[in-house]
Amino acid sequence: MKYISTRGKAPELTFEDTMLTGLARDGGLYVPSEIPTLSQADIAAMEGQSYEEIAFRVMRPFVGDTFSDAEFRGCIDRAYAGFGHTARAPLVQLDQGHFLLELFHGPTLAFKDFAMQLIGQLFQTALTRRGERVTIVGATSGDTGSAAIEAFRGLDNVDVFVLYPHGRISEVQRRQMTTPTESNVHALAVDGDFDDCQARLKDMFNDFEFRDAVKLAGVNSINWGRVLAQVVYYFSSAVSVGAPHRKVSFTVPTGNFGDIFAGYIAKRMGLPIDRLVVATNQNDILDRCLKGQGYHKGDTVPSISPSMDIQVSSNFERALFDAYGRDSTAVAQLMDELKDGGFDVSQGAMETLQEHYDSGRASEAETEATIATTLKNTTELLCPHSAVGVKVAGDHRITGTPMITLATAHPAKFPDAVKKASGIHPPLPPRMEDLYERAERVTRVANDLAALKDHIKGHIAQ
Ligand SMILES: *Cc1c(COP(=O)(O)O)cnc(C)c1O
Repeated sequence: MKYISTRGKAPELTFEDTMLTGLARDGGLYVPSEIPTLSQADIAAMEGQSYEEIAFRVMRPFVGDTFSDAEFRGCIDRAYAGFGHTARAPLVQLDQGHFLLELFHGPTLAFKDFAMQLIGQLFQTALTRRGERVTIVGATSGDTGSAAIEAFRGLDNVDVFVLYPHGRISEVQRRQMTTPTESNVHALAVDGDFDDCQARLKDMFNDFEFRDAVKLAGVNSINWGRVLAQVVYYFSSAVSVGAPHRKVSFTVPTGNFGDIFAGYIAKRMGLPIDRLVVATNQNDILDRCLKGQGYHKGDTVPSISPSMDIQVSSNFERALFDAYGRDSTAVAQLMDELKDGGFDVSQGAMETLQEHYDSGRASEAETEATIATTLKNTTELLCPHSAVGVKVAGDHRITGTPMITLATAHPAKFPDAVKKASGIHPPLPPRMEDLYERAERVTRVANDLAALKDHIKGHIAQ
């Protein structure tokens, strides 16, 4: 299995190097050169299997000879052992034909744990074998950073730095990043928004001298290993509502397009997915684009679903790559135009995108109302991101096709917004009850590449 860059000018890599690299050296994103498929019988045989077993069967073809079966199974088992639910990704019914996939039972209470916990184990295994150390730098709108710090804290062969937008994440998100005491993890509060953090991260990856000097590795949602880990729960959930014998649709609260793109990969692998519905908050650039209005950046407006407050949706590049028939020159051109504000999607590419994806948005008021009505009708307390999904899913239901909406975070991660909408203050699970008492450790940094590089160089273990 080989991996190629969406911009066509970086070397082909194995799974191991793709995972350890993150962003391709031509600025593109790695994708598998071809997508392996599973037969109907393979998929049917997943029914009743454990999450870990399904994970092994779905991901194994992508890993090549990077890990032996035993190594890979060991990584999967360790990754999910700390989850607070034996099903890992339980499905609950909201309504006739509408299901909620709870992806928030991991250690930091958001779906990012599914990928990050696994990546932590895979990095540890590969780096130990190679006798190497790497510096992981991530940018976060809140949940990636806490998941990364949780997955890598205390590991011997990595230093982790996480850039988050100062003052724009929830207190629980911040505390999950600033309270771990291990010396290999560093939270950096950047004076800027999430797009600034993500832009500085890309600058660091494009600065080859720095990149090589600190052995930079990325675990943002552009990392192929993360997308891959997220493919698994599309299979596990679809099979439990009747796939492959019937079609299933999914609605996904979307920001960086990583989670929904994993659904597209599941579909390409043979899972009978009817519609993939992209749900956005008031930062609706993806909804507008998928409705044919081009991709044109505006200002990010802070919302009660901050993990989706975004203008530059990195993984959308992977979707464009396939929509443009894997034409890397066309993709590189679009990404150049994006630097100057945006681009229009060709008619052919737009038709291909619309074959797979639908989209919708939820306003702040609609999000709050959905939290309140869902609680009233079902007793399920939604986080604001999941509520955006449930609202948009409601607009895209087709009779006879089950709809699965992804619940991307636990309500306790966003207690203020949830309290305002529902009147209920969602309690943290017992294992993190003392989060508000733990001491915080964070460095405030300017939105400046040189300052960030200096800080990182000065704080890595030699
Ligand atoms: C990251 C995140 C999202 C968006 O996921 P993408 O893969 O970036 O589209 C949605 N909800 C929550 C809670 C998240 O943490």
